[in-house]
Amino acid sequence: MIITGYRPKYFILQELVPPRLFEQVRHQTLWGLLDARMLWTMDALRKIYGTLVCNTWNWGGHITLRGLRPFDTSTGAAHSDHKYGRAVDLVPVHTTAEAIRADILADERSGGKNPAYQWITVVETDIPWLHLGFRNRDRASAGIQWVAP
Ligand SMILES: [Zn+2]
Repeated sequence: MIITGYRPKYFILQELVPPRLFEQVRHQTLWGLLDARMLWTMDALRKIYGTLVCNTWNWGGHITLRGLRPFDTSTGAAHSDHKYGRAVDLVPVHTTAEAIRADILADERSGGKNPAYQWITVVETDIPWLHLGFRNRDRASAGIQWVAP
């Protein structure tokens, strides 16, 4: 399967970008900045694990930077995948980030059979949320990059 474009069924744009970008940038442009494989994977994981919370500002919450981050943010690494639209932080409601990481790791160790995980190239460990990255990395030869904080 090859994906060049995808609009998620379970996530709206407000969950994926901060309010300033949502208000100031054409939505078509913002969708174009978000990695299609990431959006597809978010839906696939949502079908398996139930509700996954990303940005909450649209409903009065204070979370704004779990998806795309502006380049001038002080949050996270200087060249975080979030700034390039290819990383997302998800907080599961019905399970834990640790449990999902364990599933991803078990699948990788058994040869990567579950298509839901096939595009993930970076996973951060030891944090209470699920950070998934879709960095340019050869899964076949290098595997998933497991990053400790
Ligand atoms: Zn993150």
